[in-house]
Amino acid sequence: MAGSSSLPTYFAKRLEGKVALITGGASGIGESTARLFARQGAKVVIADVQSDLGHSVSKEIRSESGQPVSYVQCDVAKDSDVENAVKTAVSMHGKLDIMFNNAGITGKYDPSILSIEREDFKKVFDINVYGGFLGAKHAARVMIPQKKGCILFTASIASVCYCGIPHAYTAAKHAVVGLTKNLAVELGKHGIRVNCISPGGIPTPLASKAMGGVDMKTLQETCMADAILKGVPVDANDVAEAALYLGSEESKFVSGLNVVVDGAYSLRNYSSTN
Ligand code: NAD
Repeated sequence: MAGSSSLPTYFAKRLEGKVALITGGASGIGESTARLFARQGAKVVIADVQSDLGHSVSKEIRSESGQPVSYVQCDVAKDSDVENAVKTAVSMHGKLDIMFNNAGITGKYDPSILSIEREDFKKVFDINVYGGFLGAKHAARVMIPQKKGCILFTASIASVCYCGIPHAYTAAKHAVVGLTKNLAVELGKHGIRVNCISPGGIPTPLASKAMGGVDMKTLQETCMADAILKGVPVDANDVAEAALYLGSEESKFVSGLNVVVDGAYSLRNYSSTN
């Protein structure tokens, strides 16, 4: 019997030695991704505006994974905060391999273009688009000299189909996909891969709030009922698994993609039911 050094590669941790910065990492998809990344050997820095939660989540992941996991206060809509988050990750761990621009908000559920206020519309873009742009910009400053890196965004199925989501959110998530493609082209020559993930309905605090504060179990059942693929108890880890693939060496030739994780929900045309 061979020793542990010759164990098959599928037993190896998929992000061993990598450093990941995850915005919106205190909750939902970002939190699940932070957990999975740490379990797979990454050093993780969680950047969020929810300070108490961010500290407690990082402490919990640290103790369950044995990996260095820390929290940095960061409003992604503020250039100096994002710059500081990237600098913190690099000063703690010496490099940055994965920048996951995941923080997002849905904004107000106002269905009419006639009553949507400029400030509400702008706020959604400030966090979902400008926040991602800042994350990519400050990460690229570190990754270009490294000649390597992975930039990820969380978009949404609102980027590929109509799904009854506010105009600002839909427009913002389309913008995230556009940014992903442009950056994949610009940064490819530096060995940097850029991809985004478009989740369908996922039971998280964001989705619960959007549905009037429904509990997680009911929300999960709704997400399952909406999906075309049946029998899958969807949760935030399903999106984290896509992030793990895109952040790992297994996707080393994959760049410029919008990976849809929605149990085929977006294949239906819902616009006629509006
Ligand atoms: P969530 O509310 O559970 O997590 C979002 C996190 O982002 C929170 O911790 C929040 O504090 C943080 N955040 C919000 N504004 C921020 C800011 N200005 N700076 C830093 N952090 C900020 O929601 P989630 O569902 O996990 O959302 C994560 C991403 O997934 C978002 O981009 C969202 O648009 C996207 N998404 C979610 C769903 C879904 O059904 N849950 C579907 C498609 C896309």
